Amino acid sequence: MTIVDGLISSIGNTPLIRINSLSEETGCEILGKAEFMNPGGSVKDRAALWMVQQAERSGALQPGGTVVEGTAGNTGIGLAHVCNNRGYKTIIYMPDNQSQEKVDILRTLGAEVRVVPTVPYANDDNFQKQAGRFAATLDNAIWANQFDNKANSLSHYESTGPEIWSQTDGGVDAFTCSVGTGGTLAGTSVYLKEQNPDVKIVLADPMGSALYNWVTTGKATMTPGPSMTEGIGNSRVTENLAGANIDSAVQVDDQEMVDMVYRLLHQEGWFFGSSSGINLSAAVKIAQEMGPGHTIVTILCDGGGKYQSRLYNPAFLAERNLTAPQFAS
Ligand code: PMP
Repeated sequence: MTIVDGLISSIGNTPLIRINSLSEETGCEILGKAEFMNPGGSVKDRAALWMVQQAERSGALQPGGTVVEGTAGNTGIGLAHVCNNRGYKTIIYMPDNQSQEKVDILRTLGAEVRVVPTVPYANDDNFQKQAGRFAATLDNAIWANQFDNKANSLSHYESTGPEIWSQTDGGVDAFTCSVGTGGTLAGTSVYLKEQNPDVKIVLADPMGSALYNWVTTGKATMTPGPSMTEGIGNSRVTENLAGANIDSAVQVDDQEMVDMVYRLLHQEGWFFGSSSGINLSAAVKIAQEMGPGHTIVTILCDGGGKYQSRLYNPAFLAERNLTAPQFAS
């Protein structure tokens, strides 16, 4: 029996799960890193832990201090867990276009949540900039700054990448994931490419994001949207993303993502959030392009529980001209 020593040690070392139906259909091994099994329920626990530890090491965060962050929710949830464990206060700025479930969870965890109007990054009142300004007014406080703080991508370079390499015995042919801050893609891609430069790295992008165009044309211009996905897509190339080692990009639209998560729920029993749906759809596209016999790894970023009122609500989908696939019960 293996004992994991407390909350901090239970972040990372997630299973790599074969998605059976997708693997059988494509003739490839489609493998998902089960990030929904982290204590905060998402891939962002890793970045949260690394950012807090870096601030502790640098002396920026002293006992009893405060961590302020702008987040679509999951980084805030990860920070709230880590901060509770380490004795810090958490203050979260969130745009008002995110699911209510994430706000509720954050408040239950004891974080102070400030929901602010959704405005573009260029606007001074963007949630990230408000978080930075507020942190600067406090003593013994840091702005985690996940978008441009490279402790974020370092967490994936030091944990996610090595885990995938060892779990596949070095047999990974392609890695794909979508990008919010870019921490996951950057850290994992650089580690995997260092082990084997032939590993194909593919950025998976929802509609209404600029990153597909950035990879394919060099210019970060927006594609038509919007997308109902949460936590992914971006209008700019962050410091984290700038360090990624990327070969190509694929776009996945919301209906493809909805079809994927509903199908995996009803046919295999999985309950995934929207970014996992984007990632798995991208993995299937890559498998079709590469042909049978390849191993394609992606990220199962979080579970579906935070999205019951949206992704798993057929009325919400219908308002966005999306259809919830029907399955015989
Ligand atoms: N999926 C979900 C559900 C997320 O919350 C995030 C982070 N906002 C991502 C994917 C993207 O991860 P990263 O920030 O490492 O690009």
